[in-house]
Amino acid sequence: MTDIRPLAAGNWKMNGLRASLGELEAIASAVRAGETGRAEVLICPPATLIAAAAQAGGGMAIGGQDCHAAASGAHTGDISAQMLRDAGATYVIVGHSERRADHGESDQMVRDKAEAALRAGLTAIVCVGETRDQRESGQTLAVVGSQIAGSLPHDATAATLVVAYEPVWAIGTGLTPTAADVAEVHAFIRHELIDLMPGEGEKVRILYGGSVKPANAVELMGVENVNGALVGGASLTAKDFLGIAGVYK
Ligand code: PEP
Repeated sequence: MTDIRPLAAGNWKMNGLRASLGELEAIASAVRAGETGRAEVLICPPATLIAAAAQAGGGMAIGGQDCHAAASGAHTGDISAQMLRDAGATYVIVGHSERRADHGESDQMVRDKAEAALRAGLTAIVCVGETRDQRESGQTLAVVGSQIAGSLPHDATAATLVVAYEPVWAIGTGLTPTAADVAEVHAFIRHELIDLMPGEGEKVRILYGGSVKPANAVELMGVENVNGALVGGASLTAKDFLGIAGVYK
């Protein structure tokens, strides 16, 4: 069994002003004090805070929540992977279900963004996951399989790619799949990654995301092939986020 360093990642979504950097500083100081053990810790604040977060967050990584597929150009309001890197980010989330739904992002668009991230020297966190209807009609593995086949970047390595399994119905709802359901999907993703990326697929980190809280983190992070968490709501306060990342102490 490959020893994979877990990743505890927070996605602040469209939340956070400069005043919120206090939470980030508290997380960073706990990381430096060893409270998150062997985990790598990442916060993805809104783009407006990336540069300041990279300054304030010594000891942890900072990431973006999306990037454009092009390096530069006439795309008003968009941000390129290169710009994120220049601001101090080392990761970027692509294909979050909120972007797939709100902005009509297809698998191909997500792959293009992930490949742009790699070209810019960022590690891409590619999100996949089924809706409630898809789970109830038994399509979970088919949906996740087709998102994996369609949205992962070509030529990625275990150092430049993270996959986040985020059932859409579990995001922000307080609902989570059972540990057995998580194990089934993560084992399936691992199998697909090994197939697609020989020699690398066994080392790619697969995060679980969707209503991870301090109260369920030990159980969810203990599931086989779960190599960390992607955390939304509970990443907004240092106390809750450290209650999750702290399981790796
Ligand atoms: C997310 O949006 O990536 C997420 C997992 O959100 P939450 O933890 O709030 O469910």
